Amino acid sequence: MSYAPMEIIIGWLYPKLMSTYGDRGNVITIERRAQWRGYNVTVLPLDQNSTAEDIKSVDIIVGGGAQDRQQEIVMRDLQGAKAQSMRHKIENGTPGVFTCGSPQLLGNYYEPAFGKRIEGLGILDLVSVHPGENTKRCIGNLVIEVTASPLAAELQAMTGIKPYLVGFENHGGRTKLGKVAALGRVVYGLGNNGEDGTEGAFYQNAIATYSHGPLLPKNPFVADWLIQTALRLKYQQEIKLSTLDDTLAMQGREAMFKRLKVDLPN
Ligand code: GLN
Repeated sequence: MSYAPMEIIIGWLYPKLMSTYGDRGNVITIERRAQWRGYNVTVLPLDQNSTAEDIKSVDIIVGGGAQDRQQEIVMRDLQGAKAQSMRHKIENGTPGVFTCGSPQLLGNYYEPAFGKRIEGLGILDLVSVHPGENTKRCIGNLVIEVTASPLAAELQAMTGIKPYLVGFENHGGRTKLGKVAALGRVVYGLGNNGEDGTEGAFYQNAIATYSHGPLLPKNPFVADWLIQTALRLKYQQEIKLSTLDDTLAMQGREAMFKRLKVDLPN
């Protein structure tokens, strides 16, 4: 008897407008790590040519960073039935990784350096404000400890180590969280706003972060968490992913922690 391989559809938000900061590496990482395990993968761009039905069809959503102007175009396009679909997916546990500009548009609003406030989708209870052109951007390496529940415990169970993530931030906007949980706490860098020590947000199975890097090739176990969560939701069964050789990526993380003088707790 032969079985059709399981399939994952990755929905990639506005690849042309939201790829300024290299976050396509997140898409590639999920794609390859799923293919290496024998799953069929389709990458579906979700953009101006897509419908609400397209959004409904995806198993994982990836959204990258963008500059203010591009972000404004996206926010104007992601309205009505498409916005409803996005909300429905995230509310119902579709896993996703949203970086920098993407969380800003999933939040309540974003105030760019120039121009008027842009209303967000209001899925994540957070607001983002760019304090103006003369304010320093938040740029540099970023290390966070994931604290969000149950993500932190699940990542720790997968790896056997404390869920510290390395990345790189580059944003003007400052984010303040409302009722949504932070993704984690800043260990090195600035995070959401450089003031309250929070980084990113975590809601249902949506990971929102200021961490480019891109995030997933630097911390591949997060990609595995997304794949595993997507398969569980789609096929309604627990799926154990086979192990891949991540020696290089893990050595890269170690080197980064060392360089930034971050002590990893046991
Ligand atoms: N335009 C946003 C900001 O500067 C997002 C930047 C980004 O996605 N890296 O805050």
